[in-house]
Amino acid sequence: MRKKQGSLKEYHQRRHFKETQEPRGKVVKRPKNIFVVQRHNASHLHYDFRLAVDGVLKSWAVPKGPSKKVGLKRLAVETEDHPLAYAKFEGTIAEGNYGAGTVTIWDHGTYTNDKTISMQEALDEGKLEFTLDGTQLKGRYALVRMHNSPKNWLLIKERARKK
Ligand code: MN
Repeated sequence: MRKKQGSLKEYHQRRHFKETQEPRGKVVKRPKNIFVVQRHNASHLHYDFRLAVDGVLKSWAVPKGPSKKVGLKRLAVETEDHPLAYAKFEGTIAEGNYGAGTVTIWDHGTYTNDKTISMQEALDEGKLEFTLDGTQLKGRYALVRMHNSPKNWLLIKERARKK
């Protein structure tokens, strides 16, 4: 069984908390299955897709944003784990700081794991399948790790299951 917890080491190393309003946060033991998508107008506009797993927010930067259309694949680049508290963060990250620009919450809600293995195991295997219940995003999605780079994933909107 996988025991690994998420880590905020990289998140903390990249930031100076005297200069950014972003939360310092901590690893949470058993977080609810929440997700958030933050529109991040930084040097390049992108959407940060985050799922609560392992006591942290597992995070991917999606340049074009998540698709609402079945079958559409969007590049999702894995980024450092963020604290659960980040799911509530909106604001401006000042010039000179990592990720300088504005962050707004584009969508948030809960997810359910559609696989028979845990989300942790699915992350290790490189294929997550889950159903989102957000305001904008609803239904089944998959995140699949690409073979060309361990950080590159595809976020795919999947067809609804037949009842
Ligand atoms: Mn970002």
